Amino acid sequence: MERKVRVRFAPSPTGPLHIGGVRTALYNYLFARQSGGDMILRIEDTDSNRFVPGAEEYINEALEWLGIGIDEGVRQGGAYGPYKQSERRDIYRTHVKQLLDNNRAYIAFDTPDELERARAEHKNFQYDASTRLQMRNSLTMPREEVDRLIAEGHPYVVRFLIEPGRDVKVDDLIRGEVTINSSILDDKVLYKSADDLPTYHLANIVDDHLMEVSHVIRGEEWLPSAPLHVLLYEAFGWQDTMPRFVHLPLLLKPDGKGKLSKRDGDRLGFPVFPLEWHDPASGAVSAGYREQGYLPQAVVNFLALLGWNPGDDTELMDMDELIRKFSFSHCSKSGARFAFEKGKWFNHEYLMQTSGKELAALLRPEMERHGVNPDDFSEEYTAAAIDLVKSRANLLSDLWEQVRFFFTAPETYAEKDIRKRWKPETPAQMEELISVLESLPDFSSAAAEPVVLAWIADKGYHLGNVMNAFRLAVVGECKGPHMFDISALMGKEETTRRIRRSIERITPDNAQG
Ligand code: GLU
Repeated sequence: MERKVRVRFAPSPTGPLHIGGVRTALYNYLFARQSGGDMILRIEDTDSNRFVPGAEEYINEALEWLGIGIDEGVRQGGAYGPYKQSERRDIYRTHVKQLLDNNRAYIAFDTPDELERARAEHKNFQYDASTRLQMRNSLTMPREEVDRLIAEGHPYVVRFLIEPGRDVKVDDLIRGEVTINSSILDDKVLYKSADDLPTYHLANIVDDHLMEVSHVIRGEEWLPSAPLHVLLYEAFGWQDTMPRFVHLPLLLKPDGKGKLSKRDGDRLGFPVFPLEWHDPASGAVSAGYREQGYLPQAVVNFLALLGWNPGDDTELMDMDELIRKFSFSHCSKSGARFAFEKGKWFNHEYLMQTSGKELAALLRPEMERHGVNPDDFSEEYTAAAIDLVKSRANLLSDLWEQVRFFFTAPETYAEKDIRKRWKPETPAQMEELISVLESLPDFSSAAAEPVVLAWIADKGYHLGNVMNAFRLAVVGECKGPHMFDISALMGKEETTRRIRRSIERITPDNAQG
């Protein structure tokens, strides 16, 4: 019988979630939803030295922003909890004992200094079948001494006893069967008495087993751990419920040379984190997609295609479509280049698909940041203004730059446009334009345009100069959407007010300059 699909995203809260981790979470989610399965969020916080405050909250907030839903986890609860490993110490202790009792693991007392010395004395030292009998552990020491040292509180670790010379097969849904020989593995530490905590390897597989995880979907960097995990499953006698492994391709630098790192982001100017991160220790701030003005749907779509394709050239797919189409058979083995420019393209496409009304809500923080109170303007006005300019923007932050003149009259006017378009006769022409506009019974774009153009033609004025001076007065520079669409939306009063303001502010000096 097919098992129920249960997948887990299992981050360690050691800092902000990297964009590669986000992709792992996304693929787990897509697969879970497609299969009607469960998506678990497990916090792997057994490495107490690397714990970073705020990292767990960050993970939750990032997944929520992206719409990656979690069925079971610390916040959601569930039948297999606790979902935070530091709260599962008893469970791990029992399992460590089971391995010790069955002689699948042993206790080792070697101090860091002793291990250092062994490494200095033997080239390529590895704690394994070839060396373990020369070390200080329960295989080489009398039972009483082991008990005494433990009773006296000497720190120890529990190591996994790896039998050499065995072919270990890892069956991976993307890579096929990968075989490695157990002789290359070392006797990994599974538990440390010093903090009474298991290591990643033990906690990870015990939890995958107890949480009935059916598929382990994670980054390629974990592939080297997989043979050890297979051996651990066997040591516990759980080989029949071993999850299927899926190791996702690495995310590569934009030029394809090497693994994507935070430094690439700093160097090339793109975020490698979903949300902005304020490092609690150094106070350093790392950029996030959300704060840089990306829409979550665009980030999801962009990430989905880094390592997977739908089998044709379809690029724009919302979450539902991704869920329907996702498959491991179309995941690549080789690394995926992090083409961040493409991320901007996706964002542009999603901006175009999103209504001005929805974008207005998203733009509020940006408006506030620039000292504009969004509530001073009607929702319809803001939405219509956004709809007029959104084709010119890639990010929400660009969108603000494009739309801001609808909310604040220009304080300054572009120097080069003044030089080109603001002639000595312009102020008088602008006075006339005000009268023409004021006389209009209908201020809509379609009604105003022919009247203004007829006036210019009648007077024999220079069309380009008059229209650009008009634009300069209202927008502050010779850019933006169709002029009569702008004036219609802004209304007669504000349009004429801005023209008056420009006549006062753009001085003849500027005009000659
Ligand atoms: N805690 C590991 C991480 O930080 C989990 C790896 C796995 O999914 O097995 O990614």
